[in-house]
Amino acid sequence: MNYKSKDDFLTNVKLKFPNENEFHQAVEEVINSIWDTVQGDENYLNNNILDRIVVPERAIIFRVPWVDDNKKVHVNLGYRIQFNSAIGPYKGGLRFHPSVNLGILKFLAFEQIFKNSLTGLSMGGGKGGSDFDPKGKSDNEIMKFCQSFMTELSKHIGHNTDVPAGDIGVGGREIGYMFGQYKRLRNEFTGVLTGKKTDWGGSLIRPEATGYGTVYFVDEMLKTRKDNLSGKVVTISGSGNVAQFACEKLIQLGAKPVTLSDSSGYIYDSNGITLEKLEFVKELKEKRSARISEYAKKFNVEFIEGKTPWEVVCDIALPCATQNELNVDDAKLLTKNGCFVVAEGANMPSTTDAVHHFINEKILFGPGKAANAGGVAVSGLEMSQNSTRMPLKSEEVDNLLKGIMERIHSTCVTYGTKEDFINYVDGANIGGFVRVADSMIDQGIV
Ligand code: NDP
Repeated sequence: MNYKSKDDFLTNVKLKFPNENEFHQAVEEVINSIWDTVQGDENYLNNNILDRIVVPERAIIFRVPWVDDNKKVHVNLGYRIQFNSAIGPYKGGLRFHPSVNLGILKFLAFEQIFKNSLTGLSMGGGKGGSDFDPKGKSDNEIMKFCQSFMTELSKHIGHNTDVPAGDIGVGGREIGYMFGQYKRLRNEFTGVLTGKKTDWGGSLIRPEATGYGTVYFVDEMLKTRKDNLSGKVVTISGSGNVAQFACEKLIQLGAKPVTLSDSSGYIYDSNGITLEKLEFVKELKEKRSARISEYAKKFNVEFIEGKTPWEVVCDIALPCATQNELNVDDAKLLTKNGCFVVAEGANMPSTTDAVHHFINEKILFGPGKAANAGGVAVSGLEMSQNSTRMPLKSEEVDNLLKGIMERIHSTCVTYGTKEDFINYVDGANIGGFVRVADSMIDQGIV
């Protein structure tokens, strides 16, 4: 179909998929970047790539019944969005959080298509999860839920079809319970999930990969301004997987992270979070329901309840918690206070207006699909190690991760540089899109 303008196309997407606000936001961001590329290429127009790329190949919704420790029966919704398999098996995490719905998972799966493409590996885009809330559940309840979830999901995934991983609320423990159930149902030991423990097929550096990768990406961005991480003050949101390992790598590279947060507020440690203090956070979060405010009590620093850390003066900000956690007012405050680098450890943490502000201000802004691609990249390496049954050493994985982040950065530079400004949003979107779109065309109208 021919559209008069971007707005015309986006109106059509909104009409076709009503009430999926986060999905609309993700599509708008990509379309803004790729519109001219598509309009200037007859092949893309004749193959109607735009209309095809915004429709998932498949979206599965299912019932997940489970019984709690008091024998009460519960039902949650389970989802798997298999969005695009043009360049490889569907790949993307599973999120367990009460906010999960179809629109949020479609946005995450859509982002994943371009992110996976940027890694250069053979992975299509997918995402899934449930509105199940793991907070406050016993270990036994988590296991029961994971087993029920996998009983249905197992019909739709496989190591050559769709390989889920973790995301918010899904870590090594949940991956373990789901892997065990898949193996029991199928009687096969394959790399059907990534993020596994290393004793049974997981990759070294996978837990670290997203956070480390985000910091490697920041380092690359700084190099374009002949700068580095040494002595930089960094605000981080979140205190889960991505936040913890971003914090760790920052400390190792000489930066000074000063905040961490969770949904109840943030801690501000003006002396800088050290590796020893970070160890306390890791142990705290292992306990699942523990709050970051414990850090403030333990180390006698401020806990600012109900707020996000974007009011703290910093050079670099890393939003690593969740979508739309940084709005345009936060963005203005950050740049007013001198922040000149923002890299998204989380998926779509900045609102559309906030992104526009960062780009207008010409700061170094790394969008999630580029900056946090390290996690899925090492998941891709885990898939290769599972296929060959040959594990890589920790330094080997870390070096490969670094190399992939450098390549993603240079793809962004290639596709996003106009005059002397690197627009990483355009660079990531166009760079990710071209490979997927060309592969779709190669494979015909399917
Ligand atoms: P975790 O579950 O380990 O941690 C999530 C953190 O974010 C927690 O501190 C949590 O606080 C906080 N958080 C979650 N929801 C909200 C909310 N609505 N408001 C405020 N804080 C919130 O998840 P991850 O670290 O794995 O994921 C974080 C982000 O990174 C997500 O956007 C995810 O999609 C993205 N990502 C993750 C990858 C990975 O490899 N894990 C890969 C690429 C992207 P609380 O405990 O209070 O809820």
